Amino acid sequence: MTDIRIPDTIRPVDGRFGSGPSKVRPEGVESLAAVSRTFLGTSHRQPTVKNQVARLRRGLAEFFSMPEGYEVILANGGTSAFWEVATFGLIRRQAQFAEFGEFGAKFAKAVKDAPFLAEPTVHRAPGGQAAFLQAEAGVDVYASVQNETSTGVAVPVRRVAGADQGALLLTDATSGGGSLEVDLRETDVYYLAPQKALGSDGGLWMALMSPAAIERAFEIKASGRYIPQFLDLVTAVEQSRLEQTYNTPALSTVFLAAEQLDWMNTQGGLAWAVRRSTESAAVIYGWAEKSAYATPFVTDPLLRSAAVATIDFEGVDAATIAKVLRANDIVDTEPYRKLGRNQLRVALYPTVEPSDVAALTACIDYVAERL
Ligand SMILES: *Cc1c(COP(=O)(O)O)cnc(C)c1O
Repeated sequence: MTDIRIPDTIRPVDGRFGSGPSKVRPEGVESLAAVSRTFLGTSHRQPTVKNQVARLRRGLAEFFSMPEGYEVILANGGTSAFWEVATFGLIRRQAQFAEFGEFGAKFAKAVKDAPFLAEPTVHRAPGGQAAFLQAEAGVDVYASVQNETSTGVAVPVRRVAGADQGALLLTDATSGGGSLEVDLRETDVYYLAPQKALGSDGGLWMALMSPAAIERAFEIKASGRYIPQFLDLVTAVEQSRLEQTYNTPALSTVFLAAEQLDWMNTQGGLAWAVRRSTESAAVIYGWAEKSAYATPFVTDPLLRSAAVATIDFEGVDAATIAKVLRANDIVDTEPYRKLGRNQLRVALYPTVEPSDVAALTACIDYVAERL
């Protein structure tokens, strides 16, 4: 079966549709190659690298129209590390979670496991649906996911009406950030990683933090709680203000992310990026709705993500389609493993050309008709 040969005339120009790591623009890699002898392999405490950290922080601030007083904080370890950082450094006593997929569940678990915090409240929804936060007395941190990468469900970023004065909202924007609309005044911490919509490589976490969130980090640190040095948010704030990270970052990740943000800002910033992802979303969901064997997994159109599309199949084996696509250099359309559905998952990040998404649907049809 995997010897089905997809004709060149219908194939996408770039066959990378992974939700993370995701497509990295060849132009970014070429820019990195151009500076490789003066940048790669040089000290991260010197201006050559610090200037790139600064470019990345500036690029994020511009791209997300960062409000006055907010700051871009970054450190090593990716989003998974940030969950631990937030567990130690942002939650005073009790958190509440909206959990509707694997990524939201991981953060909730980290907090449940922390012996110094109260049992969190968790609002759950099954895969393909969304759960929402609700005001609750005593909760000092609310946490949700803008785009659940494991299911393709996206929700608006919005403050919790009626929450206690001073309660913080943390938004996991790892895959939604850069593809979906956001007004940062609606959240205190908008955190992401560079290997999704930012089209770079993994290993960093980046958080756009409100003054209230930064103040909270200093307050908790001053309270004397034990905080592992590597997970200390105050250290991350102080290092970020100096345009560096606590320990050695991947220099190529920093450069590629900065390069990508400059590119996206030149194209028209977040509004442009959202339009592009929305265009790709219209292509793939439109195709699935018309298809005899494919349907969007997320039944509520309002929850359907424009960052990551999940498409269910009936009467044809999606895993086989993914395998044939892979043999034709069209890669990473496999679904999130734990979801266990007969499904394909396709990243719609701004790096991906909408015309390539259209080509992908033609390739899926070509393969499905021959199975
Ligand atoms: C990819 C992803 C993560 C995990 O990011 P890492 O940098 O690999 O730790 C967390 N949350 C969401 C929503 C993601 O898409």
